[in-house]
Amino acid sequence: MRRTCKVKRMVKVSYKNVLREPIMAANRKIEDLINQRNKIDRELRVMQSDCNHSEQTIKQVPLGEGCQTSTRWVCCECAAVIGYPSGYELNKFFKK
Ligand SMILES: [Zn+2]
Repeated sequence: MRRTCKVKRMVKVSYKNVLREPIMAANRKIEDLINQRNKIDRELRVMQSDCNHSEQTIKQVPLGEGCQTSTRWVCCECAAVIGYPSGYELNKFFKK
């Protein structure tokens, strides 16, 4: 019984800590930039979901923060990453 109470309290405390954790940066300028980026990301997602990706090309796309890139089919119109090229398509891409 005692044990259950302790566990419950611990869960509650850690949950509160998560809520108190600042989601945005303390720096106003950075918070503003993050807000802008979120707004742009939302807008991009909406526009890309409306696009029918009629024209596609193989491109090197960045993978996350680093300078690593990967080869993908990308929409010419909205820059959405569509999928992975096949081995044959990759060969053609790297030969040109
Ligand atoms: Zn598209």
